[in-house]
Amino acid sequence: MRDSINRNIEYLRVSITDRCNLRCVYCMPEGGVPGLSHEAILRYEEILRVVRVAAGKGIRKVRLTGGEPLIRKDIAGLIREISAIEGIDDLSLTTNGILLGKMAEGLYNAGLRRVNISLDSLDPERFRELTRGGKLSDVLDGIRRAEETGFDPIKINVVAINGFNDDEIREFARLTLTKPYHVRFIEFMPVGGIGIWDDERIITADRIMGKIAAQGELTPISQGGQGAEKTMAGGPAKLYKLPGAKGILGFISALSNHFCQSCNRLRLTADGKLRPCLFSETEIDIKTPLRSGCDDAELSRLISLALAVKPEGHSIASGIKDKHRRSMSKIGG
Ligand code: SAM
Ligand code: SF4
Repeated sequence: MRDSINRNIEYLRVSITDRCNLRCVYCMPEGGVPGLSHEAILRYEEILRVVRVAAGKGIRKVRLTGGEPLIRKDIAGLIREISAIEGIDDLSLTTNGILLGKMAEGLYNAGLRRVNISLDSLDPERFRELTRGGKLSDVLDGIRRAEETGFDPIKINVVAINGFNDDEIREFARLTLTKPYHVRFIEFMPVGGIGIWDDERIITADRIMGKIAAQGELTPISQGGQGAEKTMAGGPAKLYKLPGAKGILGFISALSNHFCQSCNRLRLTADGKLRPCLFSETEIDIKTPLRSGCDDAELSRLISLALAVKPEGHSIASGIKDKHRRSMSKIGG
C-alpha cells in the first residue's frame, strides 16, 4: 500500500485495550484514565475483519499493543486467528511483561514468535515507583519464560528519561553481552499531557549512545542484516553491537531525528479509530461503519483514506506537545 508520498505502508499496530495493570508515570496519570466500556472497544471479530481487509491491501506486519494487551481475555485466540490470515507474515506483541511468565507458552502455542517487553529499570524499588506498584521480578520472570519458550528475538524497550533511569543505561546495554536480547532505547516523547513531561527529561539517542560507547566500541549493524537482525529491516531503530555481545542495541530517536520519511505504519486504536500518525490527532472512525454493516469495499476505502491523510512529517520536538492529548495507553505506543 502506498500513501500520498509513496511510502510503503505495510505495518498495522493494533491496540486491543486501553486498560492496564500498571500506571507508568510517563504514560498514565496516577488515578489512571477513565477506561472505555466494553461496548466502546472493538470486538475481536471486528479487529479481525479490519486486519483481513488491510492484509488484502498489503499490510503484512501486525503488532498487538494497548494498554496492556495481555489483560484482555483470550488474546491467544486472537493471535491464532491473526496468524492464519493470508498475507500476515509477521505478528508481534508489546507488553509490560507482568503476565508474560504465566502466558508465554500459551501465546507461543497460538502462533506468536516475537515479543517486545517494556522495562525501564532493573532496580526493584525504582521499578515499583516508575510503574506505580509493579513487581520487577514478575517482568524478569516473563523475560526468562519467553526465552525458554523459544521467542526470538526478545526485544526489551527502555524509555530513557533524565533523572529517572539515565544512570541505568549502561547496565541495560550490558545485558546484551550475555543475552541474545535486542535492547532498544527509546527517546521519551511528549504524548498525552502527562505531568512528568519536561524538556529536561529528554535524553537524545546520541547522548544515550555516548554513555554506552564508554563501555566499548559500538559497531553498526546494517538494517538489511542477517537472521534475527533482519527482522529489524525497515524499522526505526539504528542498530549496533558491543564487542563480543550476543545481543543487539537499538536506538529509536522519534524526537531528535524523526523517521517520518520511512514511516511504514498505521494504527488502530482500541475504540476503533484508524490513526495515521502517532503525533497527529487526525483519526478515522472505523467502528461506526463496522457496526452499521458496511461492506469490505467501504472498509478498504477508509483504510485508503487514512493513507491519503497520513502526514508527511511531525513537529513534535518543536513545541506543539499539548496538542497530543491521547495518552500512549490509549494509542498503543
Ligand atoms: N503496556 C504495554 C507496554 O508497556 O509495553 C504496551 C503499551 S505501551 C503504551 C507501548 C510502549 O509505549 C511502551 O514501550 C512504553 O514504554 C512506551 N511509552 C509510553 N509512553 C511513552 C512516552 N511518553 N514516551 C516514549 N515511550 C512511551
Ligand atoms: Fe501500562 Fe504500558 Fe502505559 Fe506502562 S507504558 S502504563 S505498562 S500501557
